[in-house]
Amino acid sequence: MKKLLVPLLLGLMLTSCKTTQHGPGGSAFQKSYESITAEDLKKHLYIIASDEMEGRETGSEGQKKAGRYMIDEYRKMGVSHPDALASYYQHVPSEALRGRRGNLPDSENILAFIKGNEKPDEVIVISAHYDHVGTRNGVVYNGADDDGSGTVALMEIAEAFKLAKNNGRGPKRSILLLHVTGEEHGLLGSKYYAENPVYPLANTVVNLNIDMIGRCDPENCGTDYVYAIGSEMLSSELKQISEATNAATQKLNLNYRYDDPNDPQQLYYRSDHYNFAKNGIPVIFYFDGIHEDYHKPTDDADKIDYELLKKRTRLIFATAWELANRDARITADRK
Ligand SMILES: [Zn+2]
Repeated sequence: MKKLLVPLLLGLMLTSCKTTQHGPGGSAFQKSYESITAEDLKKHLYIIASDEMEGRETGSEGQKKAGRYMIDEYRKMGVSHPDALASYYQHVPSEALRGRRGNLPDSENILAFIKGNEKPDEVIVISAHYDHVGTRNGVVYNGADDDGSGTVALMEIAEAFKLAKNNGRGPKRSILLLHVTGEEHGLLGSKYYAENPVYPLANTVVNLNIDMIGRCDPENCGTDYVYAIGSEMLSSELKQISEATNAATQKLNLNYRYDDPNDPQQLYYRSDHYNFAKNGIPVIFYFDGIHEDYHKPTDDADKIDYELLKKRTRLIFATAWELANRDARITADRK
């Protein structure tokens, strides 16, 4: 497998440079890629994971406040919502939010959208949940890594694609930034989206899902790594594209330890990408591992490794860029 990477990578770079100047290496790509900074990620995350957001429990005022901050930022960067929605909100009714501990109040998925230039009907979905577990006995569970890190990564990725668009190099396919609710109660916001998709699932090319990318686990601390889960489950091309993009850009250690549906941790089923995968849509789930502050009130913004968060966010942006701009849509040939 590894020996094939170099020819594949050269092939990717040559085609994209010659025909479109879109691929990794092009100057529009490079400017956008470098616009994703540790400073911006940090600025957003200190707000998203502040005590003011009360741990972002599904349906709570704190979660809604975090949502309003995200929407204000999308407005500022000039990134709108899907045409089919009246706003950035996809209302998720209480009936669809029956969690492990009973019914939750009404809540919202938040959707930002960048329309593709050439194939606008084909959509790349990049997702992260913005709910967390709230406040218990007066202690706020800030959820900086889970999943404040994915939330702010989506905002930076959106800004990078918008910058490319402003530079005349917008993506060929459309990009949907999908901030889902209700994840901590059983992947409920993404389930609702998959059952009520704003863009037909048949036109949904891929889901890149981010859930915890700002920390390290004891096994990998000190190295530049990320767990990539599910990339070869449904498409024979996706893992190759992911690896070639990584080799041409960030050169992280892509760790496949959990990339096994029979792994005891069952991570393939444990975050929002699963609601896409079960519908036959290829996915990659990006994850940093289980660490000591997982689901503890100490999952705070000051414990995030912002340089590593930047590197992982840049890799996911580059992968989305390749998937959005390559000539042929990837296929789910392993259904
Ligand atoms: Zn999570």
